[in-house]
Amino acid sequence: MVEDERIRVLKDGDPRPESEGAAYVLYWMQASQRVLYNHALAEAIARADTLGLPVVVGFGLMDDYPEANARHYAFMLDGLRDVAAALKDKGVAFVLRRGAPPDVALALAKQAAVVVCDRGYLRHQVQWRQTVADRAPCPVIEVETDAVVPVDTVTDKLEHAARTIRPKIEKRLDDFIREIHVPFPKKTARGLSLESEDVSKPRALLKALKLDHDVPPLDRSGGERAAQNRLDGFLDDGIERYEPGRSDPLSNGSSDLSAFLHFGQISPVQIAWRVRRQPRSDSRASFLEELIVRRELAFNFVRFCAGYDSYDGAVPDWAKATLNAHKDDARPAIFTRARMEAAETGDEAWDAAMREMKRTGALNNAVRMYWGKKIIEWTGTPRYAYETALALNNRWFLDGRDPNSFANIAWLFGRHDRPFQERKVLGKVRPYTTAALKRKFDLKAWIAANGPQADLF
Ligand SMILES: Cc1cc2nc3c(=O)[nH]c(=O)nc-3n(C[C@H](O)[C@H](O)[C@H](O)COP(=O)(O)OP(=O)(O)OC[C@H]3O[C@@H](n4cnc5c(N)ncnc54)[C@H](O)[C@@H]3O)c2cc1C
Repeated sequence: MVEDERIRVLKDGDPRPESEGAAYVLYWMQASQRVLYNHALAEAIARADTLGLPVVVGFGLMDDYPEANARHYAFMLDGLRDVAAALKDKGVAFVLRRGAPPDVALALAKQAAVVVCDRGYLRHQVQWRQTVADRAPCPVIEVETDAVVPVDTVTDKLEHAARTIRPKIEKRLDDFIREIHVPFPKKTARGLSLESEDVSKPRALLKALKLDHDVPPLDRSGGERAAQNRLDGFLDDGIERYEPGRSDPLSNGSSDLSAFLHFGQISPVQIAWRVRRQPRSDSRASFLEELIVRRELAFNFVRFCAGYDSYDGAVPDWAKATLNAHKDDARPAIFTRARMEAAETGDEAWDAAMREMKRTGALNNAVRMYWGKKIIEWTGTPRYAYETALALNNRWFLDGRDPNSFANIAWLFGRHDRPFQERKVLGKVRPYTTAALKRKFDLKAWIAANGPQADLF
């Protein structure tokens, strides 16, 4: 059973009866592109069983999703192929249509008794759900399934830092880290005839989409099956490798689950459930801190900070003041965004980071910190630095465009952090140098692995 605190009624009312054309319960899937541990799907099935109706899952595929490119879409379409196959086995219909997600949802809602949707935290995701709630001819129920502890259960305000949100999250973990089995619906949807794109060949579908193909797909599969394999592999390797391995890009000690989490192809509840069954250790605690506290601090940030994606809104006042006080300091160098994107700064570690990010769509967390902090030092204004860091982050990372993207780019500029000793350019904002990287791993060997020969662009 889905916990009550995961459920919000966006539009109240009685389910539309069959006599008025209701033929199914619609789960409008958007953020949580999976079947396993999907509370929204479980809720849709439970409601359909009560009404004696089948379940249809609808997905709206748009060409111009904010900031998305062929790299992101390829990974997502792999996932939708998996969803379609897994739902078919369950007797649930999967309908993929080209168009803006709310338009597709509203078209399918015409025959729905109830619409169930998952929850997204970014501005456009919130607006889409509001549009569907305003216009749907039946009740609309939102189920939060991509956070371990529902975001509004944790707190009703913008949290200052990990230390302020941690106790509020931790006291509710036992209530929400629970196994969930998504059942087979009592009534199969096999008899329904609904038009849908064919997603069994994701690369063919990708070619038909009008989007930025300059960032090509990676040689890496997305989707629920790949996500489950990755989780198994991470746990088989031994979670005790996580600390200090997660700070060493050469040892691959971290889980590499962020892209799957971003597309909702794996549930954080499932990951936490499995990790909690491992013996207690520093690594286990540290991994759960990142997966739950840090990730859900990012959800809190985009939920309660209206300007989460702008310099004015995302950067705290104390940091803006200190960066402004140092705006005329001489910079060690000044680079344009294009020069940085071409990995031509001449700083070996930074250029290696930019190359790895472009080639693999990922980067170790410690290296991301160095990469981002240097952008502040090498640009004429902190505002340009913020916009450059966010744009490069969201363009090249497979896990970009996520609440984590906005929170971590803001972190570079002091969000969720404290003032440090004042210095040139950064003022009191925390610095990050190659010395910190050298303490964590063999920087020379990593730079050699990501030298100009590794530049595919
Ligand atoms: C400048 C900068 C930019 C970043 N941009 C992104 C981004 O666009 N998308 C993104 O998902 N993460 C981002 N991060 C956070 C972090 O670097 C990545 O989540 C992590 O490297 C992903 O690798 P992993 O899955 O192996 O993580 P693991 O270490 O295995 O952690 C498990 C999960 O915990 C979460 N997590 C880990 N570190 C953080 C963190 N610092 N903050 C919040 N959640 C975290 C992620 O969901 C991750 O998959 C950024 C960090 C920095 C410093």
